[in-house]
Amino acid sequence: MLTSNEQLRYSRQLLLKGFSETEQLQLKQAKVLVVGLGGLGNPVAMYLAAAGVGQLILADGDSIDITNLQRQVMFHSAQVGKNKAEIAKEHLTNLNPEIDIEVIDEMLDFEQLDYYASEVDLIIDCTDNLSARYAINLACVNHKTPLISGAAIRFEGQLYIVDPRVDNYTCYECFYPKDKGEPALNCSTAGVLGPVLGVIGSMQALEAIKLLTNKPVSTNKIKIFDGLSGHWQEFNISKRTNCICKS
Ligand SMILES: [Zn+2]
Repeated sequence: MLTSNEQLRYSRQLLLKGFSETEQLQLKQAKVLVVGLGGLGNPVAMYLAAAGVGQLILADGDSIDITNLQRQVMFHSAQVGKNKAEIAKEHLTNLNPEIDIEVIDEMLDFEQLDYYASEVDLIIDCTDNLSARYAINLACVNHKTPLISGAAIRFEGQLYIVDPRVDNYTCYECFYPKDKGEPALNCSTAGVLGPVLGVIGSMQALEAIKLLTNKPVSTNKIKIFDGLSGHWQEFNISKRTNCICKS
């Protein structure tokens, strides 16, 4: 049962067709790991906390830098130098005191990812490097934990959902095999426009809410957003032979 305070807090989503107290309780009981509290992790964590996801685990070993403030909209100038996950917890606890938030103020190694993948209902990858993406993907494949992966650079973003609970799913390595190598560009070398991260992070949060409330989400597809034209493109991804996700 929702408390009367929760009914009021979540009243605007409880008005939605297909979103009742049942769905709100599903969110309340959900445990979600957000890896990376940067430009994607900011909107993801804010929307999930606001929507009432009951247990959020926020992982980031980085401290806030002045160059982050152009896009990481949860952070203030006075918080430069402080750990991102700690500050995010402060912000989100003020936003919604009804939920539990756990902080991991370090970069997760494979053992930690493996542990958390077995503990949570969903992992949201908001990291900015390929080695973290592969490690998160592997932990999700091993524990059949759903994964919502986002990325953005320059004016472009992408979204990819891995759901190892369904038959014939594809994983991140099916989309981007390890032998393709590390891309030379990242946000600090190629730049990124803040709202592009907002678009992709919001999409990650939206898909997370749908997934946690058992609504269909689109898997085995990469969605690419071009912020200059405003167009989305979608490409089917096939299962790669001998991929780690081979069952
Ligand atoms: Zn795969």
